[in-house]
This record gives sequence, C-alpha cells and structure tokens, in this order.
Amino acid sequence: MRHRYESEDMPSGICEDCGHFCIAVVRDFGIGPYEYWGARGNHHDYQQVSPCCEVSIVEGDTKVIRTATHTARRDHRDGKIKAGEKYHITVTKHWRKGGPWWITTTKRKVA
Ligand SMILES: [Zn+2]
Repeated sequence: MRHRYESEDMPSGICEDCGHFCIAVVRDFGIGPYEYWGARGNHHDYQQVSPCCEVSIVEGDTKVIRTATHTARRDHRDGKIKAGEKYHITVTKHWRKGGPWWITTTKRKVA
C-alpha cells in the first residue's frame, strides 16, 4: 500500500541532532526488496524525520539573536577564512519545548 504525504500535514519543529528548524520529511528505513526462502517481499518502514540529519524532530524553535560582520584579524583555525577577509557571524538560539536550549554560531565569508 502506498501512502501520500502532504507537506502541510507534516510536523515541524527542531532537528534533534543539529537543532535546525525544519518540517519533517518521510524516509523509508525499511530494508527494501528481499527474498526469504523463495518468498519475495518489500519491507518498508516509513518514519517522519528531519531532512538534514534524518533524526526525530522535537517541539521547539530557533531564533537568530545576533548578526554581525567582522574582519578576520588572523587566519581562522578551520582554514575557511583568512586574515583580512570579511565574514558574517550569525548567532542562533535553539530551544526544545521544556528545555534545554543552546546557541550555535555560523560564520560565512562575505563574497
Ligand atoms: Zn539536523
């Protein structure tokens, strides 16, 4: 039997792993087609998961609490930003309903 899933029916919240706000997608965690003693089958295990990490979505939300543009004074350790280059910093607060909450910082080079 095939199901149709409409995105407006899907739960939204934050990814349990990375904390991004997202709308659930359906992934098939089944083993797919199989054969067992000559009997063929197709195993499906549909689950609603986050599109980014394919883990559970939990109730919560995110909010950008600070954005800023910096000029790097030295090469960054990750090697993506070099001294003298400008980059945006985005600080995002993520929280789960009932806690906990945490903060992530992303840096993006200004093109
Ligand atoms: Zn994620």
